[in-house]
Amino acid sequence: MSEFNLEEHHLTVREVHRNLPASALYEHAIRYEKDASIAENGALVAYSGVKTGRSPKDKRVVKHPDSEQNVWWGPVNIPFDAQTFAVNRQRAIDYLNTRDRLYCVDTFAGWDPKYRIKVRVICSRPYHALFMRTMLIRPTAQELAGYGTPDMTIYNAGAFPANRLTTGMGSTTSVNLSLEDRELVILGTEYAGEMKKGVFTVANYFAPKRGILSMHCSATADRETARSSLLFGLSGTGKTTLSADPKRHLIGDDEHCWSDDGIFNIEGGCYAKAINLTPESEPDIFQALRFGAVLENVVLDEDRIVDFTDTGISENTRGAYPIDFIASAKIPCMAGHPSDIIFLTCDAFGVLPPVSALSPAHAMYHFISGYTAKVAGTEMGVTEPQATFSPCFGGPFLVWHPYKYAELLAAKMKQHDARVWLVNTGWSGGAYGTGKRISLEHTRAIIDAIHDGSLANARTEVDPIFGFDVVTECAGVPRKILRPRSVWTDAAAYDSAAKKLAHLFRENFEQYESGVSPEIKAAGAA
Ligand code: ATP
Ligand code: MN
Repeated sequence: MSEFNLEEHHLTVREVHRNLPASALYEHAIRYEKDASIAENGALVAYSGVKTGRSPKDKRVVKHPDSEQNVWWGPVNIPFDAQTFAVNRQRAIDYLNTRDRLYCVDTFAGWDPKYRIKVRVICSRPYHALFMRTMLIRPTAQELAGYGTPDMTIYNAGAFPANRLTTGMGSTTSVNLSLEDRELVILGTEYAGEMKKGVFTVANYFAPKRGILSMHCSATADRETARSSLLFGLSGTGKTTLSADPKRHLIGDDEHCWSDDGIFNIEGGCYAKAINLTPESEPDIFQALRFGAVLENVVLDEDRIVDFTDTGISENTRGAYPIDFIASAKIPCMAGHPSDIIFLTCDAFGVLPPVSALSPAHAMYHFISGYTAKVAGTEMGVTEPQATFSPCFGGPFLVWHPYKYAELLAAKMKQHDARVWLVNTGWSGGAYGTGKRISLEHTRAIIDAIHDGSLANARTEVDPIFGFDVVTECAGVPRKILRPRSVWTDAAAYDSAAKKLAHLFRENFEQYESGVSPEIKAAGAA
């Protein structure tokens, strides 16, 4: 055992494993996790227990005088006091101290050395250690030797419940964030994605303070010009799927920052949905699920082959893999200023066109609205699709008010001449139930046409309800589907569905009307 210990964190467990390689974490998982196994494809298969998605209602943020004025308090950032944070933190530490062995993973978040932060993960499950080693940026041996004190620490005691009698606890799950201490304490949920999005939340607080825009988006870059393209979108809209694009460099699949020097990925791994994954439709992601990857909540058959169609444990099955498992990944994960910004939405009403060009005002309207229809999965308790509005396409992870991010985006878009697009990866020809989801092939053709510049000159027509420019011609996509009304068998039914969706947009936007310019207000649905 090395001399490394966690005493500065009040952890007295003697057996502490720091930054074990994947092979060793596999061995620990097989020995000490009750149900871990190795799939035939080589990935480590682990189970997150009762929680197979994030628990946004159980997140609390310390209300501290230094940050109080900056935080967008409400259902996304539910305040609690420093004392309750300390109680939960102590509970996590006490639990971790009962373990025979602990894992410490020292990593970086943020590929730009100017802005990267040191994130330390302390956990009791080898699965969680491998997950965060995979998802964040792995330091070299030299960087590890000189690592010093972390900037952010995650205490994952997820196997142990929160005390329901503790003030303000809504359940036995508790995700506790202190921005001042840069500490995240997890109790009562073993869903690994909670750690990854905790890091993103911290980035979402500190980046805007430095004039940097943190964004819930994937990113790719042109192999020649190095200019990037961003794909914003809520869960299940296609960020990860569409960024695995062999024609371009992959910069990252989920969390990025935009500084004056260009964009950089916050993470060092990708976290793909595994449901219905096939080697034909998503070859790059499929092959990345091999030795060194973590597969969560999937079902194996008796030959240890993953059944990607089995949702018996969760709809939200996931695979985490180091970003360099994707051949087109660019290391370091940094690129130039975006030429195109794409808002992905998965419209379960089948109303929005496959692709529309947005003016700056429409871009702001849609960025602040953050519309999608939630499909079954990432959040606990969501089994039927439903319309959701989540500002900046990342509401649950925002710390400042959405305007803070919107203003930064507006300024950067303008400064760097980025075009903005709204792409519907959801339903066509009818709502969920009658229509069908737009094929990946067609969506990929649209994204290609955006990137090769052809859509910027394509014919468009103004949508009578939403007011944006609907693109009516695109190579590789049948003309008919570009106008959604023409694929519905019943045009009157389309009109009424469109009106209904427009109404939902207006209703949601009411809360922002007084804070935006008249142009943005006018860009709203009629
Ligand atoms: P999260 O924020 O939860 O990581 P995400 O935006 O990265 O979500 P993906 O993991 O890319 O979402 O999930 C998109 C899912 O939708 C995949 O399972 C993909 O196969 C499926 N899909 C089906 N049709 C399309 C389409 N036309 N475009 C994009 N994805 C599609
Ligand atoms: Mn993703």
